[in-house]
Amino acid sequence: MLLEGSCHCQAVRFSVESHQPCPFMRCYCSICRKTAGGGGYAINLGADYRTLKVTGRRHLGVYQARIDDARGRRTSTGQRHFCKRCGSALWLYDPTWPELVHPHASAIDTPLPAPPQAVHAMLGSRAGWVEVAARPGDDCFEDWPDVSLAAWHERHGLRL
Ligand SMILES: [Zn+2]
Ligand SMILES: [Zn+2]
Repeated sequence: MLLEGSCHCQAVRFSVESHQPCPFMRCYCSICRKTAGGGGYAINLGADYRTLKVTGRRHLGVYQARIDDARGRRTSTGQRHFCKRCGSALWLYDPTWPELVHPHASAIDTPLPAPPQAVHAMLGSRAGWVEVAARPGDDCFEDWPDVSLAAWHERHGLRL
């Protein structure tokens, strides 16, 4: 499925081919909440990095989060791309998985398929005021679950 996206001020537009366009994975970690998730969580999709086309690249900023947890202090390998003009969160690229790019569902203008089920991840980092709107059948995890975006789509018969 071809996804088209943009930031709010339209300085950055992009398109990318996605086999995992279903917005089911809600991440409640502090990085997602602060950089992309005013309602408490952010949703990333899975897409094919080689097909990513961007206009307005000069407006892109990249943020690599500082992480300080039980594994120690380090810089995240995840490169969070955003628009320097309007601040919209656009996508995450991590060279650890060079063939993948993870657009934020919030930046996508193409209508996305509604997920039959949601996964609520990193609930251990959730802010106290954030209500987890879990429906029956949803999966909830304190940490990052051992389920890839691709595996979830296959399990739900949504290989697109
Ligand atoms: Zn913008
Ligand atoms: Zn997160």
